[in-house]
Amino acid sequence: MRIAILSRNPKLYSTRRLVEVAEARGHEVRVLDVLRCYMNITSHSPSVHYRGENLGKFDAVIPRIGASVTFYGTAVLRQFEMMGTFPLNESVAISRSRDKLRSMQLLSRKGIGLPVTGFAHKPDDIPDLIKMVGGAPLVIKLLEGTQGIGVVLAETEKAAESVIEAFLGVKVNILVQEYIKEAGGADIRCFVIGDKVVAAMKRQGKEGEFRSNLHRGGTASLIRITPEERSTAVRAAKTMGLNVAGVDLLRSNHGPVVMEVNSSPGLEGIETATGKDIAEMQIMFIEKQLREKKQSSMTRTRGRG
Ligand code: ADP
Ligand code: MG
Repeated sequence: MRIAILSRNPKLYSTRRLVEVAEARGHEVRVLDVLRCYMNITSHSPSVHYRGENLGKFDAVIPRIGASVTFYGTAVLRQFEMMGTFPLNESVAISRSRDKLRSMQLLSRKGIGLPVTGFAHKPDDIPDLIKMVGGAPLVIKLLEGTQGIGVVLAETEKAAESVIEAFLGVKVNILVQEYIKEAGGADIRCFVIGDKVVAAMKRQGKEGEFRSNLHRGGTASLIRITPEERSTAVRAAKTMGLNVAGVDLLRSNHGPVVMEVNSSPGLEGIETATGKDIAEMQIMFIEKQLREKKQSSMTRTRGRG
């Protein structure tokens, strides 16, 4: 197969691992910086160009599109889709999962467990917003934050009010959320491929820190998850339409709740914590999808006789 990996940096662990495994399995791989791709979107035979070269047709594309380049990145991915290239994750699913409000609304509609959450842009009645999500302590998040930055724990109602006022004063969208104290500063990353959780790790925040992000000094370890956690993670990925997803759960006393569904989950933490070859599982998933696609198109052709 010819496989394109959309990644801005070929040196990243996840990119390197995918290249290594795909090549070992006999595939031809190109790593493409999505911002360097350009295209004629009105052409009858869509193509993608790169540094003066027409890239030709790929069998599959693995999008690893950073949050900051979602808009252009998903447009490039769409062009590959128009050329009949199989996307490991589809562009619409990536856009959907990058919008936190939309994601939570979709997950909630499917009855998937979520922390009680409120959204606000410019509420006139902050105490009522706080009351709506069950009062302090609560977690206030910037909608656009990543790696734990912009996630604040407000222990009292007064603190919550000032933090909300401060965020709204700088005109950012926020999310106000029930604090899942019983999670004990830990969350669970479930790595989903297709309809399976292929690996799971627990991330524990450092002493005195409620945020478990590895970037904030958290540590990862192997964990056994419950059947309910497993099915929650798989349903969350499916709701987003993602074949590959990192679903972050908290263990709350009202069952597993989904915090985030990540469409480009990193491999380093999870492969190190679990010792599993998740890069290979992704390549094998692509191989299987393409085999099935080929078989079903052969059956269709034969059927037409
Ligand atoms: P980011 O996108 O920046 O990683 P998250 O929403 O994942 O933001 O929050 C960062 C971390 O903070 C989580 O991994 C979790 O450990 C902790 N956390 C977030 N929300 C809650 C919550 N409602 N209750 C308890 N802990 C939380
Ligand atoms: Mg997170």
